[in-house]
Amino acid sequence: MSAGLNPAQHEGVRYLDGPCLVLAGAGSGKTRVITQKIAHLIVDKGFEPRHIAAVTFTNKAAAEMRERVGKLLEGKTMSAPGKEGRKVPVGQITVCTFHSLGVQILRKEAEHVGLKPQFSIMDSDDCFGMVQEQLATTDKQLIRRVQNAISLWKNGLVVPEQALAAAQTEDEQMAALVYCSYVATLHAYQAVDFDDLIRLPTELFAANEAVRERWQNRLRYLLIDEYQDTNACQYSLLKLLAGPRAAFTAVGDDDQAIYGWRGATLENLSQLQTDFPNLRVIKLEQNYRSTLRILTAANNVIAHNPKLFEKKLWSEHGMGDSVSVTPANDEEHEAESVVFRLSAHKFERRAQFRDYAILYRGNFQARIFEQVLRRERIPYVLSGGTSFFDRAEIKDLCAYLRLIANPDDDPAFIRAITTPKRGIGSVTLEALGSFAGQAKVSLFEAVYMGGLAARLTDRQIEPMRAFCDFIQRLTARAEHDPASSVLDDMMDGIHYEAYLYDAFDERQAQGKWTNVLEFLQWLKKKGTKPEAAGIDAGGGAQTGAVEAEEATGYDNADGFGDTGKNLLGLIQTVALMSMLEGRDEDPDAVKLSTVHASKGLEYPHVFLVGCEEGIMPHRGSSDDDAPVDDARIEEERRLMYVAITRAQRSLHLTYCKKRKRARETIVCEPSRFIKEMLLDEAPPPGADEAPMTPKDRLASLKALLGGA
Ligand code: ATP
Ligand code: MG
Repeated sequence: MSAGLNPAQHEGVRYLDGPCLVLAGAGSGKTRVITQKIAHLIVDKGFEPRHIAAVTFTNKAAAEMRERVGKLLEGKTMSAPGKEGRKVPVGQITVCTFHSLGVQILRKEAEHVGLKPQFSIMDSDDCFGMVQEQLATTDKQLIRRVQNAISLWKNGLVVPEQALAAAQTEDEQMAALVYCSYVATLHAYQAVDFDDLIRLPTELFAANEAVRERWQNRLRYLLIDEYQDTNACQYSLLKLLAGPRAAFTAVGDDDQAIYGWRGATLENLSQLQTDFPNLRVIKLEQNYRSTLRILTAANNVIAHNPKLFEKKLWSEHGMGDSVSVTPANDEEHEAESVVFRLSAHKFERRAQFRDYAILYRGNFQARIFEQVLRRERIPYVLSGGTSFFDRAEIKDLCAYLRLIANPDDDPAFIRAITTPKRGIGSVTLEALGSFAGQAKVSLFEAVYMGGLAARLTDRQIEPMRAFCDFIQRLTARAEHDPASSVLDDMMDGIHYEAYLYDAFDERQAQGKWTNVLEFLQWLKKKGTKPEAAGIDAGGGAQTGAVEAEEATGYDNADGFGDTGKNLLGLIQTVALMSMLEGRDEDPDAVKLSTVHASKGLEYPHVFLVGCEEGIMPHRGSSDDDAPVDDARIEEERRLMYVAITRAQRSLHLTYCKKRKRARETIVCEPSRFIKEMLLDEAPPPGADEAPMTPKDRLASLKALLGGA
């Protein structure tokens, strides 16, 4: 069960005597080690699929991995003693993101952390709003700073009281105070934010031995992809889950660590060696993805960073096409010329649209490409942005869904009850809010409380009751009825289409309604396709390595995977989808994606656009004058390395000579990375050792001269 592996990969797949780290450059087959290892564990070693969990960073990467595992195990039967000939229940393997693993654990253990299983997941807008409310300010920068501080505290497992005690300056004190009320508010809403999805299970496992052991028994082999991007909290979760058995394989590439701003630490790689002295480290050196020219470009760029581990990548693919660098006059010209060249290239190569990706540093760059692609009638899909889930109409529907799952979710309540307007005015809602605040109940609950009558007239209360009754009926149905029928009833009840045509002009309304239909269709499809297996740590026999097959039937009883019957699980999936990237579908379409969201993926042909100073490398988010420090540039350089190494056969870079920025036109410099990539310069002082072999250097020189 391990064909198509080189000796080092083979070792990574077979090694089961202790913890294992595969450390290797891009495209060297790390993810392949993970997928093959899953197959090996199940088919050859007799592991129950439900005992295996593979986690990665983005939804997209998880979907891809799931697909690869599915293909590997298709039609396979187990060969371990006692299980010969049994078909592998692929759906029971947990292949998901860290956050989705967190959701699944929290759903099962909700009571232990003071939540109900149908807790809401707040998106970053909701959280922004909560911090804003507590600070009572409109200063966005301040709000973001406090939000970041809270996030760092959470990821560092610092509770509000500790933050408050440690606060020294007035600013820190203020942030810590906001942190206190922020946590209290989330709790009142029966909601969590994205950081909680990792933090809460980690704290729970640390504090509760019985629960921890249950999960250690449940997930007996862990595989972690993109390990370099795990932060301290995720690392703790991993360690607690692995427990004394330490049965795990992590794969990663220090040159691809690009989530430093989320608190990911490269030190985690070294930490692993410290915490697990018997860690087996395996290095892979052959790149199977890209042509030599692309690989050389990537090697040249990353050579400018100081390195943690020695790595030499080589490839048996030929030299391939030259890497092209094309200037454009401005961003419009850039989009036009990229789309034009893409079409010509596709025609010449007889390629398909799905073979192409347009990658960019920031979401704001996507719009103009969307416009040109649409005009040229070229199909495209947008991922990496939150743009789809950020649309007002999608957020409206999500508010309804959240409320159906969790009536205590006040932000969802307010959004849903006022969209469409139901003749419920802000005065009424304010009265409801202050009553709920005093009674310490959710808005939803307050609507049904008698005391409210004293403050509001029947005419004011009546439409709110009707609304809440409607939601309650849906909640009752959501538990048992198929997702699609509950969704249909929900849509029937809220007259959303009519509202759109009322509130917007016809063209806008049409566009929004199309999005809504697309969203509903997507939800229904997801609802009938159990892809993320439901997991639980309870039930079933917990002793002995081999359990009765029947015990596994318990898995999907109310878990994630059974979304076909359960809208409630689906709703949390939707919240997660909105976090890092868009939907996962694959028609024949050009991919538009941020570099961040393209991690782990590969495309035959890549256009990397906006290769300018200030964009790639990015100038630092808001403060234009902020000095750019080495650490930041190094992280940007790793991002460039990720971008380049997505390409299999051809790579095209573009930059603008001018670009509009906040109503003025600025002159742009080509990115320093272009120079680093194309010129075979000696690495800068500090990075003493030349990372390239003489063979690579020769290749890079040839590439520069354009000959093969
Ligand atoms: P990244 O760092 O970008 O995540 P990776 O190290 O995970 O890359 P994979 O995605 O696993 O690399 O592999 C890159 C490509 O090489 C894939 O198309 C994979 O199928 C192919 N590949 C990996 N190993 C082999 C092999 N031994 N033989 C043939 N093809 C391979
Ligand atoms: Mg990978």
